[in-house]
Amino acid sequence: MAIISSNINESNSPRSKKELRIVKSEILPEDKSDAQVISNRPKFFNEFIGHEKLKSSLKISIDASLFRNECLDHILLYGQPGLGKTTLALIVANEMNTKCKVINASSLERPRDIVGLLLGLKENEILFIDEIHRLSNLTEEILYPALEDFKLDLTIGASRGTRCRTIHLPKFTLIGATTKLASISSPLRDRFGICQKLYLYSPEDLQKIIFNFSNLINIVIDEEASLRLALCSRGTPRIALRLLKRSRDYSQVIKKNNIVTIEIVEKVLNNQKIDHRGLDEIDRSFLNYLYKNNCGPVGLESIAAALSEDSTMLEFIVEPYLIQLGLISRTSRGRVLTPSGENYINEYHEL
Ligand code: ADP
Repeated sequence: MAIISSNINESNSPRSKKELRIVKSEILPEDKSDAQVISNRPKFFNEFIGHEKLKSSLKISIDASLFRNECLDHILLYGQPGLGKTTLALIVANEMNTKCKVINASSLERPRDIVGLLLGLKENEILFIDEIHRLSNLTEEILYPALEDFKLDLTIGASRGTRCRTIHLPKFTLIGATTKLASISSPLRDRFGICQKLYLYSPEDLQKIIFNFSNLINIVIDEEASLRLALCSRGTPRIALRLLKRSRDYSQVIKKNNIVTIEIVEKVLNNQKIDHRGLDEIDRSFLNYLYKNNCGPVGLESIAAALSEDSTMLEFIVEPYLIQLGLISRTSRGRVLTPSGENYINEYHEL
């Protein structure tokens, strides 16, 4: 049972006003240019490129729950940042013809944060919690009965004035997204009826995403330039769209037009020190460090300390792509440079 030590309805405090705004907006744009990306996100499954199996399995669950006139089972989406987890949650809401409230788990520090959020939900609405592995234990405990029986078990007040209350909630769907599935406690994980992984995209799918997005932002991009961008985007739509937007900047400033050519793309990639496989400075420092250690196994923390980078960032953003390219491997004793990784570094030093 969750203990809420103060009145749960604190809508007058400055903090709760801020959170209410966060919860009510569909999504918080990171910056002004991202606001355009948000409005240009795919809205329905047919606009979401790739991940065919995942889409058809979600579609079946959605159609079945619409048929039964019930709310959808809770969904857990996991995979690296930028692969489309938030976009999918918003698509599920559109396909279910309902609203989606988006929040990051780091904003749900206190028990009353999640309580306020749950009390604000309406029947069949979707609550999307990004980075759900960051929920505190107390917040998770409040969520368990909410997810399973759509009720809140609360203890309100302190010492002698304590009262126990059960509040019934409207039926809702929680969509959780995480980059770290292993960090989610198993009681929480078990409460998701649907659990899906998002994988890195193929260059062909990324090229389609680039073409679709260039149409939306009125950019003309040819086959060669779009393929080059796709190959350098580490299998990640967010990176592909970011590089496309930087290419648009270059074409508008240098050529005074909206045409992205291979020449423009090369300029952007050179400027960002991204090579033909999408590797950047951090990737190369990572590989170089292993190379200098005679290719022997090196612990992640040692690499992070040597590169002055965050070990979590290295583990979840840098390493997966290097592993996918076969340049490094993870062993129980640490990270190892593979023969392909060694060749890559030798070739790079020769340039
Ligand atoms: P995540 O939540 O996994 O970090 P997002 O959903 O925010 O990723 O997606 C990042 C960007 O990439 C968004 O602008 C989104 O529209 C775009 N995107 C992601 N996946 C796809 C896809 N399959 N098709 C089209 N655009 C996509």
